[in-house]
Amino acid sequence: MPEGPSIVILKDLIADLHLGKPEVLEIAGNVKTIDKDKLLHQEIKAFKSWGKHFLICFDDFTVRIHFMLFGTYLINETKKTALKLGITLKSDQLNFYTCKIDLLEGNINTHYDWKADVMSEHWNPKLAMEKLQETKQSYICDVLLNQDIFAGVGNIIKNEVLYRTSVHPLSKIEDIPAKKLNEIIKEAQHYAFDFLKWKKEDTLSKHWEVYQQKKCAKNHQVVKREMGKTNRQTYFCKECQKKYG
Ligand SMILES: [Zn+2]
Repeated sequence: MPEGPSIVILKDLIADLHLGKPEVLEIAGNVKTIDKDKLLHQEIKAFKSWGKHFLICFDDFTVRIHFMLFGTYLINETKKTALKLGITLKSDQLNFYTCKIDLLEGNINTHYDWKADVMSEHWNPKLAMEKLQETKQSYICDVLLNQDIFAGVGNIIKNEVLYRTSVHPLSKIEDIPAKKLNEIIKEAQHYAFDFLKWKKEDTLSKHWEVYQQKKCAKNHQVVKREMGKTNRQTYFCKECQKKYG
């Protein structure tokens, strides 16, 4: 599943096309969840991302693309997979496959809190801390995947952040000292930007210290288990990561 940084890469690739505010000249694809003809001859005002969502903003509505588990995109290329949504502009084409698409009416700012997106310039770590205090009984491995608190954080970032901050995934929020929670919040954003840089260099997996590893960075045995209420695959080191509580 693409995590927040992968969606930022898509946004950056589109920014590199220097499209300005292009008009949609043709529309294609088998999408059923929106009336795709609504986009035709409309001007795209902006491309945005929020967490794992890619947003194509028009005057008074926004097309939201969620890549889910297997979603992909191609710019100025096509492939044999059934096209979900294809947008033809003056000299470029954006094609989306195997994704979930829906339409948000009105101003996009009323739908999203940009302060919750770890990759946004508006990311607010203090707000994340306040939200953590409202979910004291939760395990840190679940909370890191909560998109209302850490939009953009996925399973890779979760595992690496907990390893980097030396926290056991099944520590509860109420048992983790505030200083350590602040460290986790800081690292969630920091790792997301490292992820972005490494993904662009195509070296992301080389930097994993615990995710999908047999030995941690300090050469201890890594445990792999589905954990927490989210039941997501978790990799951790019993030696390096402290269980609070
Ligand atoms: Zn270790």
